[in-house]
Amino acid sequence: MESISSNLTAVREQIAEACRKAGRREDEVTLIAVSKTKSAAAIREAWDAGQREFGESYVQEFLEKVEAPELSGLPVSWHFIGHLQSNKVRQIVDKVTMVHGIDKVSTAKELSKRAGQHDLTVDYLLEVNVSRESTKYGFSPDSVLQAAEECFALPNVRLRGLMTIASPAPSEARREFAELRQTLDKLRQNAPEPSLLTELSMGMSGDFEEAILEGATMIRIGTAIFGWR
Ligand SMILES: *Cc1c(COP(=O)(O)O)cnc(C)c1O
Repeated sequence: MESISSNLTAVREQIAEACRKAGRREDEVTLIAVSKTKSAAAIREAWDAGQREFGESYVQEFLEKVEAPELSGLPVSWHFIGHLQSNKVRQIVDKVTMVHGIDKVSTAKELSKRAGQHDLTVDYLLEVNVSRESTKYGFSPDSVLQAAEECFALPNVRLRGLMTIASPAPSEARREFAELRQTLDKLRQNAPEPSLLTELSMGMSGDFEEAILEGATMIRIGTAIFGWR
C-alpha cells in the first residue's frame, strides 16, 4: 500500500501538471484533503507531510476529530463539505474555515445567526446541482442566482462562491464544471461585492484535472490521498 505522504506528493504533482496545462498558477488551486471515515492518525500523517486543509462530511465524526489527541494544538483548517442540516449548524460554526454545500437559504440564515452569536464571520459556498441528478443536493443553476440575492445581505457570513459534485463520467463532468464557472460569473454581475465571489469548489479524485482546466479554486480529494473508503 502506498503511504499517505507519497500519495500526497503524487496528487500535488498531478495538480501542478493540470495547472500547467490550464495556464494557471499552482497557488490558484487549494487542495482539500477529504478525510471522512479516515482516522485522526491518518490526518496527522497528512499534516506531517505538509497538508493543512481538510474536508469532513459528517458532523459527529468531524467533532470527534477536532478533539482528537493526535491533532491537538495543530491549527488544522477544516472545511465542512457534507450536506449540512440547519439544526447541526450550531455544532460546527466555530470550528470551520469554510462551509461548502449550503443548499437552502434557511441554512445560510442559520449559519449567519450562529456565527453572530460567536462574533465570527464564516465563509460559505452554495451548492449547485449541475448534473441535475435528482439524488443530489443543491440549487439548480438558475435558482441559485435568486437564492444568492437573499444571502448577500446576511450578517456574519460571506458568500464566497459555488460548489458542485459532478457526474461520474469525466467528459460530462468537464461540461458541468464549465457550467458552474459560468454560473459564478453571472452571480458576480448581481453581487454587491463581486470581489468576494472567487471560489469554485469542484473536482474530486476522479475528475480534478478537468475541474482545474475549468477554473476550480478548491479541489476536494479523498481516495487518491487516503485510499479507498
Ligand atoms: C467524499 C467526497 C469527496 C472526495 O471524493 P474522492 O472521490 O474520494 O476524492 C469530495 N467531495 C465531497 C462532497 C465528498 O463527499
